[in-house]
Amino acid sequence: MNKLKGIAASGGIGIGKALVLGKEELTAPKTKISHEDISKEIYRLEEALIETRKEISNLQKKILHDLGFDHAKVFEAHLLVLEDRVLIEDIIQQIKTKKVNVEYAFSQSIKKYIDTLLKLEDEYLRERVIDIEDVSRRVLRKLLKKETINLSGISEKVIIVAHDLSPSQTASLPKENILGFVTDVGGRTSHTTIIARSLGIPAVVGLEVATINIKSGERLIVDGSEGMVFVNPAEKIIKEYQKRLTKITKDIKTIHVSKLKATTQDKREVIVSANIELPEELSLAHEYGAEGVGLYRTEYIFLGRRELPTEEEQFKAYLNVARKMKPYSVIIRTIDIGGDKFLSHPQVPVEMSPFLGWRAIRFCLARPDVFKTQLRAILRASVEGNVKVMFPMISGVGELREAKKILEECKKELKHENVYFDEKISIGSMIEVPSAALTADILAKESDFFSIGTNDLIQYSLAVDRANEKVAYLYEPGHPAVLRLIKSVIDVAHQNNIWVGMCGEMSGEPLFAFLTLGFELDEFSMPPPRVPRIKELIKNVKFEDAKAIAEKAVKLATAKEVEKYIQDELKKILQDDFDRILLV
Ligand code: PEP
Ligand code: MG
Repeated sequence: MNKLKGIAASGGIGIGKALVLGKEELTAPKTKISHEDISKEIYRLEEALIETRKEISNLQKKILHDLGFDHAKVFEAHLLVLEDRVLIEDIIQQIKTKKVNVEYAFSQSIKKYIDTLLKLEDEYLRERVIDIEDVSRRVLRKLLKKETINLSGISEKVIIVAHDLSPSQTASLPKENILGFVTDVGGRTSHTTIIARSLGIPAVVGLEVATINIKSGERLIVDGSEGMVFVNPAEKIIKEYQKRLTKITKDIKTIHVSKLKATTQDKREVIVSANIELPEELSLAHEYGAEGVGLYRTEYIFLGRRELPTEEEQFKAYLNVARKMKPYSVIIRTIDIGGDKFLSHPQVPVEMSPFLGWRAIRFCLARPDVFKTQLRAILRASVEGNVKVMFPMISGVGELREAKKILEECKKELKHENVYFDEKISIGSMIEVPSAALTADILAKESDFFSIGTNDLIQYSLAVDRANEKVAYLYEPGHPAVLRLIKSVIDVAHQNNIWVGMCGEMSGEPLFAFLTLGFELDEFSMPPPRVPRIKELIKNVKFEDAKAIAEKAVKLATAKEVEKYIQDELKKILQDDFDRILLV
């Protein structure tokens, strides 16, 4: 048995067989062919192209059915590559003139094709390299008679082991068959982790060597709460974990899913809402009793596709969420492109430090065409009356003013076109950059609400890349610097009579939910499966206790002291309920 320690990314236990999605090395050997073999090799090329086309069309149909048009569209560009006459002619010419085997001719032509594209000024064409690489791997697998790993076609229950998964890959996995995620890279708040947590799938990330140490078919236990992975565990350990899994399943049932408000025992009422990325999470949000959407990460509509979504397409998506969430409110965040949301699909140039680079509101202000299309769609959906708009990565009031100016332009245009929208739509600033936290008094005067994005606020204030497993030990939500920033943002917001929420992962973690309840946070937004537990916690405590404990916690010296202190105090308050509410 082998025991691997990684980062506890998404709680729970998964027991099952591994499916390793390693980085595939597909090399085409070079062999000389005779003149007579030329037509045979060309025939093999045609056959491989036809089969690949079929494979992609089937995949596209399945994704269209399961996840909708946006995700299915990704494959349009793949199909175009297979029909590119210039490319196909080049391969045939190589087979004919150089008398080489089709695999070799194919990989040489593809290489030439990619090199040419990479030299072009046109960003769109450069971006097609990813599609070409993807499709060429599919064709090469056919020629080399290697099996294709079809993620959406996984038909038995497995634990996915991968170097990394892009957010759009994660989104296309058949959730019902995924017992867990194990990855070499990533951190507690990298976006793949966030999706795993949203879907309630146990995950351990940042293992560095998982894809080397684990083979497909090996038995695994993923302990997403402790960050442990057992490879080929002994029967005794499997039994022990199976027992824990049964207990967890039973404990989860004792957590009451409530549609009622989250009210503490001394009658402080707060809002517990959901973060959503994919359309299917909307029903999860309802199921788990979320009181609205506190963060709609709209960038997922933009990911993994060639063309930008149109205003109409976005409008339909936003309207759908707004209607389904009524009477609760929906906070639509404008696109937060950049950071780790382009791991496998760069639509912006590769940057040295993507988290500090051309991301979120910076991207939108530089591309008013993209921004305006989205804002118009949001405004049109606001006719439902429950839509709020929020800007990510605001680093100072200048950006907020610019964003609001563009929003005003969109309002004017729509009015001119006689299109209805909510003229009083609330505008929120995300507080996730330390400079915004420190100038919260200025931002509060020009915002209708704040939402604290702790995932980023932690990484920027502690200088710790949120997706880097090597520095994950420093990524501490309980660090006094983080707590002081959060407390002061909440205080300043209230002094300026605006409400303040938190949509970073921290608000769904019971210890920190209790702490921030004590800081007087108004709204807690989290992955849907977290909602029932946080509501249950809030219902079982007193606001006055949380306040007194938070006041002491914020004065402690280290994150560890903070966590231990809150844990000890909560144990005293919850007694027998502590394990049930906190430890699943
Ligand atoms: C955050 O930074 O806390 C946040 C909610 O935004 P995202 O995780 O999408 O960056
Ligand atoms: Mg963020």
